[in-house]
Amino acid sequence: MESLPPKVQERLNQLSARFREGLPAVLEELAGLRQRCEDGETAALRELRMRVHRIAGSASTFGFELITQTARAAEQAIERDLATDGQRLTDESQQALNRITQTVREAVTPAPAAAPVGDPLTAERPEVANGSDDAIAAKHRLVIVTGPIPGATDDISDQLAVFGLTLVRVDEIAEVETLLHRESAVDGPHYDYTVLLSTVDFVAAGNGRLRDLTSLRNRYPGRFLTVLVGDEDDFDTRLRSVRYGADAFLALPFDTTALVDHLEKMMGNQETAPYHILIVDDDPEQVSTTALQLQQAGMITSVVTDPRNIFRVLVEYKPELILLDMYMPDCSGAELASIIRQNDSFVGIPIVFLSVETDSERQFDAIRSGADDFLTKPIDPEHLVTSVRIRAARTRAMRFFMERDSLTGLLNHTNLKERLEDDLSRARRIGTRMVFAMIDIDHFKSVNDTYGHLTGDRVLKGLARLLEERLRRTDVVGRYGGEEFGIILFNTDGVQAKRLMDGLRESFSRLRQTNGEATFTVTFSCGIAEFPRFESASSVSEAADAALYLAKEAGRNRVMVAEPPSGDDETAQSS
Ligand code: GH3
Ligand code: MG
Ligand code: MG
Repeated sequence: MESLPPKVQERLNQLSARFREGLPAVLEELAGLRQRCEDGETAALRELRMRVHRIAGSASTFGFELITQTARAAEQAIERDLATDGQRLTDESQQALNRITQTVREAVTPAPAAAPVGDPLTAERPEVANGSDDAIAAKHRLVIVTGPIPGATDDISDQLAVFGLTLVRVDEIAEVETLLHRESAVDGPHYDYTVLLSTVDFVAAGNGRLRDLTSLRNRYPGRFLTVLVGDEDDFDTRLRSVRYGADAFLALPFDTTALVDHLEKMMGNQETAPYHILIVDDDPEQVSTTALQLQQAGMITSVVTDPRNIFRVLVEYKPELILLDMYMPDCSGAELASIIRQNDSFVGIPIVFLSVETDSERQFDAIRSGADDFLTKPIDPEHLVTSVRIRAARTRAMRFFMERDSLTGLLNHTNLKERLEDDLSRARRIGTRMVFAMIDIDHFKSVNDTYGHLTGDRVLKGLARLLEERLRRTDVVGRYGGEEFGIILFNTDGVQAKRLMDGLRESFSRLRQTNGEATFTVTFSCGIAEFPRFESASSVSEAADAALYLAKEAGRNRVMVAEPPSGDDETAQSS
């Protein structure tokens, strides 16, 4: 194979690392599916085949050829079980599946020992960052300050630590590079990003500072951000900041929450998960060519050869685009497009025909059925990849806005509840614990009454950022209602969750909120309910809500864990 351009190679490496990180979860999923097959659930057999098929498709793209081979063999074995109308997995399939497990384990083992997945406290950063070497080593995100920042208080480092950011000061931009290397901040395995924070005037004033800044930015593209502060929020100052290469501009007075909000916008949206494309085609050969081209561009593909299976795949994998064949034996592509469009849940997903049909009348007919575009085969792979990627990106952006609350950027109520249902089924399937926590800001009405609604909104945003920055990537945070938030902590028990939420509660109570010159602090109360103590999504959220109510009753600014009613006469235990 030709060698790839360095950028593509780097991207593939990232995806490959991500794929490997996801492998333990894949094993859990496979185990769950196998259990369901054991239990005689016929649908599970098909699901298992689909899952194994996806593993086969993606593993080799990310350099795990051995996994692909074992997965292919297992897929064929399961296919035979299905073809003979088998209800269970035969010994042959069992063995083939065991071989996947083995190759996956081997692929995962050489990875450096990470923090145990089960403990959410590993996500917690040291509370006070004092710039000492120890504090930096534990951090994932570094804020390097050079020069004075007018209006930034002495406890800026403590305020940033609330969000899990470490602050370090250096005198000159020229010293930054040495610092980065000393802390392995640009090449360390767990490094997220580094921010340089300075003022427009400071960069302009020094001899060669601008040159040093430019060369830093060129050397570490993407992971090194420059945020410049100006004491005037006018056009000229902003223009200067742009010319100095700033990624973001902040006007004085300096506000920690505003900084974190900017960082989240710049880095949080860099969604690197690969796009998922569904290919519907009855011809295996066509499918594999198309799939391969998309996979080589870093996408994940699922394949449906029997149109009857499409809805299950759409629901389960939520692909970002459907590539549809026009002529299939049982049902034409146009008919299938019409069926998909009849279902309100899938109106947003782009449908693109990929066919040898060149007659433009027939092409238009196909598009009239509800499709978005028509690509004619043979197609230049680059053209295919570009058309698919552009539309998939739009789907993802649109879904982001549909699923999220516009003020905080967190999952909205509907989607949080959906996630809770999904995660509960997953926890049940693989037999793990999980926790749902509900947060409600204390006396929030009086914040609005005293400082105004806009300031209230800033408080909400600040809490949203704090939760997002401090929790694990795998935890789910949503806005449950006005000043209420819901958090799903997977693979976590009540005791761990209580400790974690108490830490967040204390941090939040120390966060300095600002309203012009005035500063104040705000607290929250929290109720926690644990699965499997509470079994259904509704009982878990009702229990968390009840515990939250008790936390309010008991005086607010505290965390309470729900006890099942059958236990002692008390319904919740206090901190
Ligand atoms: P408690 O400690 O008992 O929770 O008291 P509280 O004042 O926080 O509770 P209450 O439910 O009485 O008031 C909630 C307030 O939250 C009322 C509402 O105006 C405010 N609120 C809800 N959504 C928003 C929002 O999006 N922005 C702002 N600024 N305020 C909001
Ligand atoms: Mg409320
Ligand atoms: Mg409240």
